[in-house]
Amino acid sequence: MPLMAATINFDEALAELEQLQHTDLPSAITKLHELEADFEHMTRFQQGRLLVFKGTSFIYAGQYQEALVTLIQSENLVQNSDYLFSAYSYEATAYIALRNFKDAFVVMSKSLGLIDRIENIDIKRAAYLRLASLYSAMGIKEEVGSYAAKAESLASADDVKDICTAKLYLSVYQLELEAFTKAFDEFQYTHDFFESNGFPLISFIALKGMGESKLRLQEYSAAVALLLKALKGYESFNFQLEINSVHSLLTEAYFALKQSAEVVEHAKFVTSLPNDPSYTELKHTVFKVLAGLNAENKQFEQAYEFSKKEQYYNQLMFDEAKMKTLAYQAAKFNADEQSREINLLNKERELYVAQQTVKEREYTNMLMFVTILVGGLFFLGILLAVGQMQKRKFMRMARMDALTGILNRGAGQELGENLFVQATARGGDFCVILFDLDFFKRINDSFGHGTGDWALKKVVDSLKSHIRNGDVFARIGGEEFAILLPYADEEKGMEVAEQCRARIEAIDTQHSGHKFVITASFGVSGLMADDLSLDPLFHRADMALYAAKANGRNAVVRYSDILKCDKQATDLRRHIASPSV
Ligand code: GH3
Ligand code: MG
Ligand code: MG
Repeated sequence: MPLMAATINFDEALAELEQLQHTDLPSAITKLHELEADFEHMTRFQQGRLLVFKGTSFIYAGQYQEALVTLIQSENLVQNSDYLFSAYSYEATAYIALRNFKDAFVVMSKSLGLIDRIENIDIKRAAYLRLASLYSAMGIKEEVGSYAAKAESLASADDVKDICTAKLYLSVYQLELEAFTKAFDEFQYTHDFFESNGFPLISFIALKGMGESKLRLQEYSAAVALLLKALKGYESFNFQLEINSVHSLLTEAYFALKQSAEVVEHAKFVTSLPNDPSYTELKHTVFKVLAGLNAENKQFEQAYEFSKKEQYYNQLMFDEAKMKTLAYQAAKFNADEQSREINLLNKERELYVAQQTVKEREYTNMLMFVTILVGGLFFLGILLAVGQMQKRKFMRMARMDALTGILNRGAGQELGENLFVQATARGGDFCVILFDLDFFKRINDSFGHGTGDWALKKVVDSLKSHIRNGDVFARIGGEEFAILLPYADEEKGMEVAEQCRARIEAIDTQHSGHKFVITASFGVSGLMADDLSLDPLFHRADMALYAAKANGRNAVVRYSDILKCDKQATDLRRHIASPSV
């Protein structure tokens, strides 16, 4: 009914199908055929899910080749670990049924590889149970035990179903170990659970286990009753392999009960089965029983024929067991080899990661080192620059007069000497002006030291702007100053001194809070032919200054003028004997 395609929710339909598979197989198969009509309208994943179920239904029907073709087809469509695991494990079931143990182990190891990728814990637990069931079918008892135990360990108290399934496998294992009473009890426990919780198929498996346990315990009537019940159940699912297995067990039980007719009846089902390897064991059992039955009935010729068949199937079983063991060993070897390789790869990866980490750390260290180096150099640079600035500041401070901000005596003299040498070397002129504030002591005494300081600063400020760039202005004593004029003659010096004198006299002192007049006396001396240093110029300017003081102060006197005056000359002679500069 392709027209319905648009209205069918395939995901829901498939989920329903997967659910029905465990409870009502015939209805599930009917639904499968309905859905198959819409196969083309499904997504790839939905198609894959459908094929997984279709493959499973082939297995129930004993059509293993068809199951394999379908399941292998589904592998490419379901990219989801859960369904892929289902496909692989059902393929394993089919391979086991076909006695192709090698391929069975191959797909089983593929499915094993998927288990880690299954995130859903319920599906993971179910996967371990599937593996337990597969190993059980392979007769690898220790693996059945180990996977059943793994499944059980993943189950919480609420997961009663999975706990019971695990117990079912463990009881199959017990049966193999010939602990029949224990096996019966555990089969009984799981049967009761599955029957009352609506999982008929598994409950029939347990029922068969109970029957087999009773058979081995030689409680034949009880065994028959249980096995007949199991048979009916399996028939409703058309589960061929199990149906025939129950027939075989029933022939054994009826033989022990000496019910020949029933033996023959159930034996017929098995003997008429096609020559399929999955039936070898059943046929062996049944022919053995038939040989015994005929021997008891003294039909020796018949008994001999059946015995020969029994021998034949015994040989097949032996070969099969050998094959199974070989395939198992090979698969185990391969798996070990693979895990060794994986371990090796992991080790290499770890090593690589470790190397990368070391490299990264080295890089980080280098980066840190460079940062520290650059930072350090930068910091050092700043320190040096600051140091340099400090040094310059200190040097400047050492050369400057703290109160007035002009050069101090030492710096003024040093700079003056240099300029003197430069100027005279070029044949240039040079002039020295010295001046001393008049009656400065009085200012201090009358208005205080602070006002004296103010006056000193004010004098310097009023002159600073007036002095040329190449000239030198220095404070050479308490209230004594020098102005050095390179390339200037005495005439020019007189001019500058006169201007300075006038400026000082003009200073308005009212901002100091007091009213008074500041004046200064000036001595000027120009270069003379014999002068080899600045000293004689200073000396002569000092004498002129002295003369200016003596002349009544607030005046400018040049050295060449003072010799004209006798009185002054006498005083000067005295002064020269003890020069102040
Ligand atoms: P004269 O006209 O003869 O030069 O008289 P004077 O009072 O100026 O001379 P004297 O040398 O007797 O006095 C100078 C005074 O200058 C003495 C000292 O207290 C004062 N003085 C020197 N340096 C400073 C200073 O830095 N600040 C102040 N306020 N006074 C100073
Ligand atoms: Mg003075
Ligand atoms: Mg003085």
